Amino acid sequence: MELNKLAILSNIQVSARYWHMIVAAPGLVNRIEPGQFFNILCETTFPFLRRPFSIYRINKAEETIEFLYLVQGAGTKKMTEFKAGERLDVFGPLGVSFTLEEDWETVLLLARGVGIATLTALAQEAVYNNKKCIAILSARSHNDLLATEALQSMGVEVHKVTEEDGTSDVKSVEKLIEQIISKQRVDAGFTCGSKRLSKLLQNVASKHSIPSQIALEENMACGMGACFACVCDIQNENETLSVRVCTEGPVFDLEKVVMA
Ligand SMILES: Cc1cc2nc3c(=O)[nH]c(=O)nc-3n(C[C@H](O)[C@H](O)[C@H](O)COP(=O)(O)OP(=O)(O)OC[C@H]3O[C@@H](n4cnc5c(N)ncnc54)[C@H](O)[C@@H]3O)c2cc1C
Repeated sequence: MELNKLAILSNIQVSARYWHMIVAAPGLVNRIEPGQFFNILCETTFPFLRRPFSIYRINKAEETIEFLYLVQGAGTKKMTEFKAGERLDVFGPLGVSFTLEEDWETVLLLARGVGIATLTALAQEAVYNNKKCIAILSARSHNDLLATEALQSMGVEVHKVTEEDGTSDVKSVEKLIEQIISKQRVDAGFTCGSKRLSKLLQNVASKHSIPSQIALEENMACGMGACFACVCDIQNENETLSVRVCTEGPVFDLEKVVMA
């Protein structure tokens, strides 16, 4: 991990609530793994604390990395003011990345909202390694279904569910996962962005013995393990351990995570 000031190449609004930023990252792109994140300085005065963002896409040829972010509060509002040509102050890459086993042929991604920002880099990696990648994207509305085109252009099979269409409730998503699993063997599952859907994947994965991973998004402060602001509970055999999402995570085996 290191401190870097990366040149911003673009920072544009892509839907009502979401923005997309591309930064030049020469020398960094080969050291970043899907699931890792950067702690970004949004403002030197207020908000003082850096904010964590996953790497959305890695472009090794162009030596760029991308962030996809939801405008939430003070920090992300400030990020929308960044202009091309300015420098982005980032600390990272931080955290534990996803694991893709060599013998997995088909992987299933289950993302809610901006959770797809975290899973897209993984989809890139899976496709690059000739794995079949199936993604279920869940959002409030079609307008919030992010990254659909980016995923489809990579060759990912995308299934969209929304509140708008009445297709995103847990029962409907469970039915969809079961349908997918009944048609082909799924070797691994990955999720991010919703406790409700993560619990669902935990149950379905356990039923079908599919190893699965989750990228947790807990509120963070230091991002490097010193403050313990981001602890979550992990079941380790017979004991429950409190671990830091920033250093022991953000990626964990889904079966071990204690869902509140
Ligand atoms: C590993 C990880 C990856 C993530 N990746 C993405 C991503 O790719 N895209 C995305 O959109 N989101 C992502 N998030 C979520 C993102 O970090 C939050 O949405 C972002 O931090 C919101 O910042 P904000 O300032 O806009 O919102 P706010 O709600 O204003 O603040 C966010 C956090 O800062 C704390 N905070 C705010 N003000 C203070 C204060 N005065 N004193 C102390 N604490 C304060 C709050 O407790 C809150 O936890 C990720 C989160 C994690 C943990």
